[in-house]
Amino acid sequence: MTPRIGVLALQGDVREHFAALRSADAEPVAIRRPRDLDGIDGIVVPGGESTTIGKLLVTFEVLDPLRAALAAGLPAYGSCAGMILLADRVVDGTADQVGLGGIDMTVRRNAFGRQIDSFESDVEVDGVDGAPVRAVFIRAPWVSDVGPAAHALGRVSDGDAAGRIVAVRQGNLLATSFHPELTGDLRIHAYFCDMISGNK
Ligand code: GLN
Repeated sequence: MTPRIGVLALQGDVREHFAALRSADAEPVAIRRPRDLDGIDGIVVPGGESTTIGKLLVTFEVLDPLRAALAAGLPAYGSCAGMILLADRVVDGTADQVGLGGIDMTVRRNAFGRQIDSFESDVEVDGVDGAPVRAVFIRAPWVSDVGPAAHALGRVSDGDAAGRIVAVRQGNLLATSFHPELTGDLRIHAYFCDMISGNK
């Protein structure tokens, strides 16, 4: 069955996730209002600006219904800003930073340094077969610690940030610091579809 996967469409690279999900044989649906959450099998929280997405979640009254849906087991995948939103703890957030939480991890915003706006690196991701994922990082966070319930799935392989955790899973929640929606490599979206169908 084709999974219906919501993409939180308040800000960020929504279109790119739509395209990646379609290519991964899922049916993407834009989520802007609480009622949009009805009938979806999973949700993607895109990259963008976590502080802005957080404010819009409040304005559009999606924050509480989405938190409740996640608590009830709705699978979610967050990339970059989406990872920040799914983190239980955020370092270097704004004073009024709003998040969804759910993954027992601490995420450091803009962790790779302001001077490094974007870069690429290979990341081996547990459960993703084949060559390492070519990961694109854009003002990305890294994960400075994961609690006992969360699992580090991938780390930066080379350079100054070698060893930093950049992919995490906890139950039905998946998060990456990088943006697979920008590279045409569908394996992370396919992994998320497999999570939804219970195959991962
Ligand atoms: N630095 C951004 C934030 O704090 C995330 C960047 C991104 O999603 N590419 O939300």
